[in-house]
Amino acid sequence: MNYPIYLDHNATTPCSPEVIQAMLPWFGEHFGNAASKSHAFGWMAENGVETAREQIANLIGAQAKEIILTSGATEAINLAIKGVFNAYSKEEKQHFITCLTEHKAVLDTFHALELEGAEVTYLPVDSEGNIDLEQLKAAILPHTTMICLMWANNETGVIHPIDRISRLAEAHNIIFFTDAVQAVGKIPVSVSGIHLLALTGHKLFGPKGVGALYIRHNHPLPKPQTQIHGGGHEKGFRSGTLNVPAIVGFGKAAEVRIAHMKEEAKRLEVLRDLLENKLLSLPDTNLNGGQNRLSHVTNIAFGGVEGEELLRKVCQKVAVSSGSACTSISPKPSHVLGAMGINSDLGRASIRFSLGRNTTRQEVLDAAEWLENVVRELRG
Ligand code: PLP
Repeated sequence: MNYPIYLDHNATTPCSPEVIQAMLPWFGEHFGNAASKSHAFGWMAENGVETAREQIANLIGAQAKEIILTSGATEAINLAIKGVFNAYSKEEKQHFITCLTEHKAVLDTFHALELEGAEVTYLPVDSEGNIDLEQLKAAILPHTTMICLMWANNETGVIHPIDRISRLAEAHNIIFFTDAVQAVGKIPVSVSGIHLLALTGHKLFGPKGVGALYIRHNHPLPKPQTQIHGGGHEKGFRSGTLNVPAIVGFGKAAEVRIAHMKEEAKRLEVLRDLLENKLLSLPDTNLNGGQNRLSHVTNIAFGGVEGEELLRKVCQKVAVSSGSACTSISPKPSHVLGAMGINSDLGRASIRFSLGRNTTRQEVLDAAEWLENVVRELRG
């Protein structure tokens, strides 16, 4: 067994072999700039990018022309939220609705907009991480411009009722933006009813530093305004020379996900349940998050142990996350678990396990055994 066992696929995933193979020629042989229109090197690179755009679009049921390539989901999220705020800048007041358990890329962007006068409602969640749709409905104001709710939570895997949210947004003529980073490539994701959607390469066995914003074509609501100005790349939404090898890798990763997503989710659910059941059989141990979750994720609270010590020990053999980094001296409790009503001590003593394509049954059994030993030892 190779240690540490990697159970942190919601943080990032290794590039799959097919992806590495697909990327290699684009670093050397096919090095052209996709914006060079006057020679074959440029045409070749543009071809690679457009094939990838098609593959990415296919994964989410979009059209290639609706995909704007970015440096990752954080940039896509900034483009969506700030871009919509700018698009409505002539309005006297602007109101946004989001949720306390969103990723920091969303929450910090809204905090920045609040300084510029945006009004933001942060919906609460229940103890299982779910929003209340009646509360969402009640939060809609005449000047609400956007609802922004993630597809699946990165810490707990909890899935939001995206269909019902999108119908509500549509009925009120409000833009619906979803951060689908953790859902895309893991469960079926379709852009039907959605105006804006962010995704990224490195969570689906593709490379880091590449992502996309889906922008619905042919819709009367305003489109986000450009945040990065320059040569007018990506239909003017996002300038900058395209990272062709990474884009090709992202496209290949999307294609591979379409082929493997379904059977992999089934396999991982069995392994995740095995891990979860073993850990939950320890006394004073609880699941964080409800049952409507991504099938490769479990987040478990280990009562009666000190969070910092727990992480330090666990990380010797198993690579996992809590709301904080393993090496942090005084880890901060997770804002997601806090919003679910979990106190900060228990939040610090909670661990997210996220399985992936290469996770084996033996790894899960070893990880569970190590966790059991660590928890027993820490509890004396
Ligand atoms: N949104 C969610 C839910 C995430 O999990 C992450 C990555 O951790 C991001 C956004 C940011 O993605 P990127 O690393 O591509 O900027």
